[in-house]
Amino acid sequence: MRYISTRNADISVSGHRAVVEGIAPGGGLFAPVELPKIENLVHIDDMPYTMRLAHVINLWLDEFSPDELQAVCDDSYDRFDDPAIAPVKALNGGRYALELWHGPTLAFKDMALQLLPGLMRMCADKAGEKRDILILVATSGDTGKAALEGFADQPGVRICVFYPENGVSHAQKLQMITQTGANVDVIAVRGNFDDAQTGVKKIFTDERMIDVLNNHSIRLSSANSINLGRLLPQVAYYAAAYGEMVKSGYIPYGAAINVCVPTGNFGNILAAYYAMGMGVPINRLVCASNCNNVLSDFINTGVYDANREFHLTSSPSMDILISSNLERLLFEISGRDHGQVRRWMDELSRTGRYALNAAQKSALKERFFGGWASEEEVAREIRRVYEEDNYLVDPHTAVAMKVARDYREKTFDNTPMLIASTASPFKFAGSVLRAIMPDIECGDDFACCRALSEVTGTEVPPAIAELAYKPILHNGVCDPADMERALLENLDIRL
Ligand SMILES: *Cc1c(COP(=O)(O)O)cnc(C)c1O
Repeated sequence: MRYISTRNADISVSGHRAVVEGIAPGGGLFAPVELPKIENLVHIDDMPYTMRLAHVINLWLDEFSPDELQAVCDDSYDRFDDPAIAPVKALNGGRYALELWHGPTLAFKDMALQLLPGLMRMCADKAGEKRDILILVATSGDTGKAALEGFADQPGVRICVFYPENGVSHAQKLQMITQTGANVDVIAVRGNFDDAQTGVKKIFTDERMIDVLNNHSIRLSSANSINLGRLLPQVAYYAAAYGEMVKSGYIPYGAAINVCVPTGNFGNILAAYYAMGMGVPINRLVCASNCNNVLSDFINTGVYDANREFHLTSSPSMDILISSNLERLLFEISGRDHGQVRRWMDELSRTGRYALNAAQKSALKERFFGGWASEEEVAREIRRVYEEDNYLVDPHTAVAMKVARDYREKTFDNTPMLIASTASPFKFAGSVLRAIMPDIECGDDFACCRALSEVTGTEVPPAIAELAYKPILHNGVCDPADMERALLENLDIRL
């Protein structure tokens, strides 16, 4: 399988190169020349999770043997607390929750980031890359920790995470600064997330820096959600979930489902769109936003307009106004028109806005439904799902539950709805507890977790409980202008 840049028809690479490089030269994203098809979906329900995963990924990375991919998949999911890895739970009324948060950091990022290190190393070896790989991450919270957990102590890889000193939650900060591993660095930046992100981008494009690292046999790479290696495990869990629904008797083989995804950077829902294109019987994709509703507006109006107020919400991983992975969908609905995508992305960076024409808009609406939930609606939904379904959801998942409900009310389409459940409710215990018991005062994150545990009779996940007594290992802080120097210092490289 070859991969082409969404912005340039002349850039074409193999899958393993696309994983190692992360982003195409000139800024485009790598998209497959054509979507591979899943044949034998009928057999997938007999396979354990990691076998389904290897099977689907092999269709995209066909330069590897099934055994090679099976080995790396088998090695990557032993830290999940559910043997099904991504179990599907039946709720009332033909709704199903796809639980993607059973990994070590309790959010869906683990589904891809536990596999990415092994996959990245394999791809680098195949590409003849002998240098060590240095993963650079700027994080607003969840991605940093998930990447650290994935890459810690992986041979041939180092990872350095920059986070805004005062821009992440207390629990998120503790998760990162207590991270163990001989190959990990965590550095606070005196600034906001954009400062950290800009600093990381600068390092990626600084020729002198690349030279210095190269002289120490280090190659830079990224674990961002635009990396093909992040996308493939996500495509796979939609195919796997379909198999799981058949196997559990929720749907007959071949029956169509709809999928609803709480969306930020558009990675997770894009994976569902690709799964649909591969032949998984998915009819409609319901894109759920919080009050940063730039995506649902886009789906409803055909105009993407990021010129609006930015809101901090109870679902912070969806607080985003520029959804990077949307570019891959734009590529498809423009009829794979590289020039058109380039013009849209230029417009976006110049004016913060671009618009589809009527034909493109109807192509989008044929498959996608967009909706959003306010903060009040999210709290009400957490409570409603807890009371009616006896099921606890985090605020991100609640956004999807609410929009899935609205979708059915508006369309009368009662096709079985698979809803992506993207974080453990314990990761956002304060918001969840206040939603189900509005009068409670629970104090700090740990106290809220204990209270939520008592109220619901569910155990606090060890990954959160242990944060209270883990030693702090990383206390480096730097100014945004000093990130390069801080990085070199941490790598013990002297100029
Ligand atoms: C990252 C994240 C999302 C958003 O996923 P995208 O792929 O960025 O759309 C939703 N929920 C949680 C809990 C997340 O961590």
